[in-house]
Amino acid sequence: MKPIIYCTRSIDERFTTLFRPTYEIVMATIDQVDPMEDVVTYGERVEALWTTIDDQVDASVLDALPNVRVIANMGVGFNNIDVKEAQRRGIIVCHTPDVLTESTADLAFGLLMSAARQLPEAERSVRKGTWKAWEPFSYTGVDVYGASIGIIGMGRIGEAVARRAKGFDMDIYYYNRNRKEEAERTLEAKYVDVDTLIETCQFVVLFAPLTDETRHLIDADALKRMRKDAVLVNAARGGMVDEEALYEALQAGEIFAAGLDVFKEEPLPTDHPLLTLPNVVALPHIGSASIRTREKMLQMNARSIRAVLEGEEPNNVVPKQ
Ligand code: NAP
Repeated sequence: MKPIIYCTRSIDERFTTLFRPTYEIVMATIDQVDPMEDVVTYGERVEALWTTIDDQVDASVLDALPNVRVIANMGVGFNNIDVKEAQRRGIIVCHTPDVLTESTADLAFGLLMSAARQLPEAERSVRKGTWKAWEPFSYTGVDVYGASIGIIGMGRIGEAVARRAKGFDMDIYYYNRNRKEEAERTLEAKYVDVDTLIETCQFVVLFAPLTDETRHLIDADALKRMRKDAVLVNAARGGMVDEEALYEALQAGEIFAAGLDVFKEEPLPTDHPLLTLPNVVALPHIGSASIRTREKMLQMNARSIRAVLEGEEPNNVVPKQ
């Protein structure tokens, strides 16, 4: 029996033929099986695991797959994998940085503009037939051009968002644990502490990884300290925001709106309270979802898997945790 490369989603032939005939490619059909329950049934045969950011790879999964040599995650974030545990076992974890930076920044900026100007709510009014007349204050939002933006997590994507903000003549603030002097020079970005950022900026955009340190970074207290006309944009990870507190703040008018591409629980349950609010723009985690970018991510994953299986050093290895 051939060793297995297990893909937790259906991946088209262009990206998998390079592994045949040496490996068997097993793909989960997501509406029929839970990939993490399914993969363990293949046990010792699995040598590579090709995951998405939805798949929780923990020690119990790794226990059942003693011959896995590489995990290639389709995403730059890797909070779904117990990387420390995988690395302790000598498993190489790879991800897809850089190739998705610009697409994700495009989406985040689109989300920012949609929430600022209530585009989905206005669009729904056209479809529902509740658009009756041009009125001075119907669907009025807040201006993006010339406003202040604070980016928490000024990494690859955060900086790409800042480049877009510069084109809108925005005042750019950022918070990272480390200063980025180059970005300060080229983008005229101002380094501030997280409290100052939250209290000062009209647009607060999250692009830090989800870690113990960033979980619920935006909690009830942070939301209370934000401006009344603030727009929160989260296309990083849902866990960075206390969603119950966000619901309360949006409902009470403590902040103006939120644009969310990510949630604590995904898919977001359709009866989630946030979906009852007109000032929430909710998207199904599509930050990197352009055709070209998704192709690049798959190519990158395929190359990483091949390198490890052929005993070479792969690119895009998640650093030691
Ligand atoms: P990156 O280049 O590693 O940037 C992350 C930034 O966050 C770094 O500048 C880092 O700077 C900062 N950071 C880390 N810990 C922090 C903390 N405790 N407080 C404040 N800042 C902190 O990563 P990236 O490629 O830009 O991706 C960022 C995140 O976006 C990913 O982790 C992923 O979760 C998310 N993402 C979402 C989508 C989507 O589809 N919605 C797509 C791609 C990525 P310091 O180390 O100096 O603090």
